[in-house]
This record gives sequence, structure tokens and C-alpha cells, in this order.
Amino acid sequence: MDAVRDAAAEQFTSAGGMPRYELAEWHVEYGVVAGITARDGELDFNLGPGPPDSTAMARWQSLPGGVGSGFSGVVVGRQTHGTGLGTHKRCSGRVLIRESLDGHLTSEPGLLLAVTVADCVPIYLLEPRSTTMALLHAGWRGIAAGILEAGVQHLCELAKVPPSDLVMHCGVGICGSCYEVGPEVFEAVRGQRPKGLAQLDLREDLAARARGVGLRCITLSPWCSCHDGERFFSHRRSGGTDGRMVAYLGRPAA
Ligand SMILES: [Zn+2]
Repeated sequence: MDAVRDAAAEQFTSAGGMPRYELAEWHVEYGVVAGITARDGELDFNLGPGPPDSTAMARWQSLPGGVGSGFSGVVVGRQTHGTGLGTHKRCSGRVLIRESLDGHLTSEPGLLLAVTVADCVPIYLLEPRSTTMALLHAGWRGIAAGILEAGVQHLCELAKVPPSDLVMHCGVGICGSCYEVGPEVFEAVRGQRPKGLAQLDLREDLAARARGVGLRCITLSPWCSCHDGERFFSHRRSGGTDGRMVAYLGRPAA
């Protein structure tokens, strides 16, 4: 049995004035919202980079309500391409900035986990029965450092389940065709050193790693942040000047 299949693409919605793509499948099957904000002309929802100004802060404050009713807080960390993980209880009506966290876990309804991305891959992990969840930020450095393996281990401990009980989605990120890297980057992720520049598909690598630690239900987004540029922000396509999307995951409170 093939463990990996393409998910139905995240579907566009701009309900509440916030342009975003969400996994309808996860909403219907598991009762969670799993999505990512987007650019869409006038509804551009850029959340960085750089220090948060008043517009960005207002957008952060609007995020929990923007994805639907039942959310009262959002948590995001300062991302360092490391493996720092935080487990969060409910926070209300405010943005909680934590230090040096590239991944977040919770089992609390009403709290949105968030990571910012612009080519890096947001990894959505869920234990469906208890709706215990994790959201990870994974670029090549984080993947090489073991962010996926750390996130799976922590989530399994929190939910008290084996990895085979988890479902995983690798969201909007740069595709292998658009991501040419030097031999040292390729080697850091794959463990083999190519002779020169090589194409690296981060989601493919994440799926292989996930299978390696026992996950069986894995889906990959078909969207590319770089070549689907009218929809998403891309660090590579813009030469580092572009904005950031926010990937989010949460279960609404009843
Ligand atoms: Zn691409």
C-alpha cells in the first residue's frame, strides 16, 4: 500500500476578508482547521518579514476570528530553523510570542497554532481521536536537525499513541523543480553528496522520514509557493524581499 497520496489541494476561501487556503478534508473528517494565509490582490495578508508593525500586529490579532468562530487565541514563536518545540495551553484574545520555537503542540480547543513560511514547509500533524495536534516549521536546516522526528515523538508522548495513529500533511512549500541547492545543503538533508547543484524536494524528504518513523497516513500539498507565485509568497522567487504566509492549525471550541 502506498503510504503517500496527494491530498485534495487546499481550497481557497476569503470568508471574513482573509485570503487563505484550507484543507477541507481535515475539517470534514477531523473537525479541525488546517490552512495557510495567502496573497490575493487587495486581500494581501502579508505577515512579515521584519519586526511586527501595527498593520502586521492587527492582522495577527484578527487571525483567530478570521479562520472562523471558536478560536480565542493564537500562538507563534520566534523561528530559528531549529528543533525547539512548545506545548501550549489555552490563551485568550492575544498573540503569544514565545522564544525560539519552530514547532507547537496542543490538545486544547480554541487555540490556533501558527508558523510563518515562505518556501519552508508547514507540517500539520494530528492524532484524530483526541485531536491532539502539532504544527512544525520545516526548512532544510530544520529537517536536517530533526524537527519532524522531534515533533512526532513529542506528539506521540502527549497523545499517548504510536506514530502509526497520526495523520500528517505537508503543506504549501517550494517544490523540487523550483528548489536547486548546493551539494552541502543536499547532503545535510539526504546524507548523500551530489557532484554539483541538485534539486531538492523537501516534502518528498519529509514523507520518507515520516514513513521511516512509522507514520502511515501522509498527504502532500500540490501547491508550490515559488511557481504558484500569484497565490503565495516565496523567499526564493523574490530574492528574499517577499512577505510571509501564516500556516495555522486548531480545533474550534464548542
Ligand atoms: Zn515550484
